[in-house]
Amino acid sequence: MELFNFCRELPKVELHAHLNGSLSKSTMLQLKRLNADSGVKDETNTFMDEFVMGAGDTRNLADCFQIFSIAHALTITPQALQIATILTLQEFQDDGCCYIELRSTPRDTPYMNKRQYIDAILEGIRNHDASNIISRLIISINRNMLQKESDEIADLAIEYFQKHPELVVGVELSGNPTVGDFQSFVPALTRARDAGLKIALHCGEICNPGEILEMINFKPDRLGHGICIHPKSGGTEETWQALCRSLIPVELCLTSNVNTKSVPGYDLHHFKEFYEAGIPIIINTDDKGVFATSLSQEYMLCAETFQLDKTQLARLAVGACQHVFDVKSRDTVKSKVLEFVNKHGLCL
Ligand code: 5GP
Repeated sequence: MELFNFCRELPKVELHAHLNGSLSKSTMLQLKRLNADSGVKDETNTFMDEFVMGAGDTRNLADCFQIFSIAHALTITPQALQIATILTLQEFQDDGCCYIELRSTPRDTPYMNKRQYIDAILEGIRNHDASNIISRLIISINRNMLQKESDEIADLAIEYFQKHPELVVGVELSGNPTVGDFQSFVPALTRARDAGLKIALHCGEICNPGEILEMINFKPDRLGHGICIHPKSGGTEETWQALCRSLIPVELCLTSNVNTKSVPGYDLHHFKEFYEAGIPIIINTDDKGVFATSLSQEYMLCAETFQLDKTQLARLAVGACQHVFDVKSRDTVKSKVLEFVNKHGLCL
């Protein structure tokens, strides 16, 4: 089987996908039509084409945070948000993803409050045909939030985790890394963790060794990106040694990092150092709509850039199963990947 088809058919696990960054062009067009039909004010006309960021784009990571307002203008009602969830899950499923943890930041809009926001996504997950994919939700806290709002989100996450432990699995910290101070989110994150939720932190998107060490010392269940940790990509010997000692799994997002110019090219991506050092890694899309990618494309890029064969790709897919937040689903997901591995005569 040629590599492209192999990457597509390999059952894969997506652990770092922001809902509003994952909207495809076709989903956005459907949401536009829906909003027009329901008389929702549409402010996205002139901006739609600005949503996608390619490698040749002059925009960088900081500019990327403006782009999300385009998607936010479309997912403004509970109905639109639910449909965005269903269509996005379907696209991941069509791409061979067998388990996904979609993450999203609850917002108040003129049409819904944060509670209705979470309800709409959970309805989307329930109403999606889940025959080939297990879908879970991670609730995001944005670094631009004041402590009161991050506390509110943590409270909601705990409440929904207690009501729907089969769907809500974690809390994560994301948003513009140049804004906010990690320590101010520690009380909210600690309460969520003490209540049983898993924690993921965006870490090392910019060079800030002090914060990176604080995050590693917090012992989250997973880290996102982890760019400026290895000395070759802007980290220090201390940050790298701390990660190596902790062995916290890292969610890597190659195209996102290249397209935002956070790393200078695929061949210089820290995947190589992490892979060789045996850091647990998971390949992800981050924002497949913004970066015009897919999970199978990310596996393909890894294979081509770092000369990985099918067995090595399959090992990455199996390894990812160990780090899904829904512990009860780990064996189910792993069996699915192993079934494919055996069918293709690969020896792991
Ligand atoms: P949402 O949470 O609204 O579903 O998805 C979009 C949000 O995810 C953005 O507003 C931003 O807070 C967060 N996000 C998406 N991509 C990235 C990224 O690459 N880095 C960080 N730090 N945050 C991101």
